[in-house]
This record gives sequence, structure tokens and C-alpha cells, in this order.
Amino acid sequence: MAKRDYYEVLSVDRGAAKDDIKRAYRKIAVANHPDRNPGDKAAEERFKEATEAYEVLADEKRRQAYDQFGFAGVEGMGGGPGAGGFTSAFRDFEDLFGDFGGIFDSFFGGSGGRRRGGGRESVQRGSDLRYDLEIAFKEAAFGTKEEVSYPKEISCDRCKGAGSEPGSGKKTCPTCGGAGQVRRSSGFFSIASACPTCRGEGTIVEKPCSKCGGSGLLKKNQKINVTIPAGVEDGRRIRIPEQGDGGPRGGPPGDLYVVIRVRSHEFFERDGFDIYCVIPVSYAQAALGAELLVPTLDGKQVKVKIPAGTQNNKILRLRNEGISHASSGRRGDMYLRILVTIPRKLSSRAKTLLKELAEVEGENTSPKPVPLADLR
Ligand SMILES: [Zn+2]
Ligand SMILES: [Zn+2]
Repeated sequence: MAKRDYYEVLSVDRGAAKDDIKRAYRKIAVANHPDRNPGDKAAEERFKEATEAYEVLADEKRRQAYDQFGFAGVEGMGGGPGAGGFTSAFRDFEDLFGDFGGIFDSFFGGSGGRRRGGGRESVQRGSDLRYDLEIAFKEAAFGTKEEVSYPKEISCDRCKGAGSEPGSGKKTCPTCGGAGQVRRSSGFFSIASACPTCRGEGTIVEKPCSKCGGSGLLKKNQKINVTIPAGVEDGRRIRIPEQGDGGPRGGPPGDLYVVIRVRSHEFFERDGFDIYCVIPVSYAQAALGAELLVPTLDGKQVKVKIPAGTQNNKILRLRNEGISHASSGRRGDMYLRILVTIPRKLSSRAKTLLKELAEVEGENTSPKPVPLADLR
């Protein structure tokens, strides 16, 4: 069967906003979800087709690649058909339908565990972890690599994550009698949910592993290198897939989120990809014009010409001296605000010269206010 266009699958037009795509997918997924249509192959196919389309169109990068090159553009980008797309869809699914609360509670076992497929066996995914990483202003501007070290749960090497002491077996779960489900009443309804004791497996370990106590997981410190793209902004979250806690009993690991904190700079301030800094000049330099050497973010110095008659607060632009864009390789600009500084102390020679200047210029002792429009 020929593959249908992703936009056609979700019945949205090519310019559809992210929210519209999400809404369209949600509608199809709710109607065709395998838990709701047991044994209905056509519904399952529709669900899979919509999920695949959604996974591509909800991801900006992959959507772009699809728009440009069609199916060929998104093959091999991970998460595609056959590449575990169905699995990750279920993960996504829960996020997407979280606000459905009660309705989906029972589909997903109600215990908060993330289930895979429609079968009885539930696989729990490990927790996502968060790491706050503080970096310097300059590192954020040009990108950097950082080694981060954090504790995470990994599969126990003694029991290989199974939780049972090597050599010992499994026994029927006493809570659910092996059914993997317990029923609880809520008003008129009786809702089946995954058994909390065995997490839906129906069996529990006979003798818990002596190293991990039966959880199948051990806390270990892990070091990884994180690449921080140039131009990263304060508060940005970088997702590092599968570097979170391992899942219990061999479940898939969670993700690691590195949250970037950018330290402020002594001289530079950022606005998007441009940076601002304030450069002091003397009255004489502003009046006569001057050539200055000003420091840039790179650490080099560039020559800047201040024209004669430069006013206080005048803004000068230095092209391509701002923050780097990681994706395009281009750079923002650097803006210099001129601050005309008035000496707080004068030598007697300077005093004499200034008085002479005042006489030549003629001091205005009844100034007319400056029209505000001139300041803009
Ligand atoms: Zn049980
Ligand atoms: Zn163990």
C-alpha cells in the first residue's frame, strides 16, 4: 500500500499551526486507539499512520525535512516507521492526553506507569532528570562543551535489572493473584488498573536481588559531555535522550534535560543575537571626534571612529560582533552607546582652559528646553 501524505493523514493543510496538528492527531488517536478498539486491525493501522505523521509534523526539524524532501527527508532521522515509532508514540501519547485525566487513566493502567502496547505486561520508563548548568556569557555566545556529572539509576549488574536474586524464580503476585490487574469501584463504574504490587506483570520475584533490593536499579554517578550550541539563551532546556534514570526491570531510560543558566557579563548585555555595551568618551573626544579601540566579545579590540560632534547616548553599530547563531553560522551585531563623561575633578590647568573655552563659546544662562522630538 502506498504511503499517504502526512498532511493528508491528519487532514490538515500544509501551513497548519502546531496546535492544529496536535488537535487533529488527538482526534484520530482517541477514536482509533488500540486499547479502545481491541482486535480492530484497521483502527490500529489508522492509529499507527496518524502517529507516524504526527511524530514528523510535530517536530519542527523533521517537518521541514519532510516538506522539502518528502518521506526520503525523514527516513533515518529516528522515530520513524519501524524504528520504534510506536513505542515513542505511546510515551508522547500520555503527555498529549494528560489533560483527559479520567478517561485515559484506565487505558494506561492508572498507576502512572507508562505501558507499551496493549498487552498485559507493562514496561515502565525511567524518570527524566534535570541538570542545571551555569555557563559564562561568552560560552553562551559562541557555544561550548561541558562535562556534567550527575547521579542516575542504572540497571543492576547483579540481577541484570530483573530485581530477583540470580538463581531464584518468580512467584504469582499475591495482590492480584496473577491477573496483573486490580479493579476498583468509582461510583457506577468498576475500573481495571495495573496491579500496584507487580506493576501489571502478574508475578513478583521470589527472592529480591541482594545488591539492588529488588528494584533492579542502582544509583551511579555518570559523566557525559554536553554540547551547548552557540547562541543558547538563559533558561533554554537541552534534551539529551535516554540519559535519565533507567527504567525498572529493563524498561527504557528517561531523558536528561540540561537547563542552561547564563551568567551576566560585566560589560555586555544581550538582546536576541545583538549585544550592547556602553563606551565612555570625554567631552573633547565627543566634540572633536576620535578614534578608539573598543573590546569585543571575542576578546579582540576593534577600531571605532567617533565622528566630531557626537552627542551623549549616540548609538554606533559594529556589524557581526554579536552572538553567533548556531544554525546559520551568522552573527548578530554589537551596539555601542556613547556616554560623554564629565570630569569630577579638574587640575588647575584644565580649569583655566575650560574657563577660556566658556568665554569663547559664550555661556547661556537662560537655556530654552530641548524639544523632546530631537532626543528621539
Ligand atoms: Zn499483582
Ligand atoms: Zn539487582
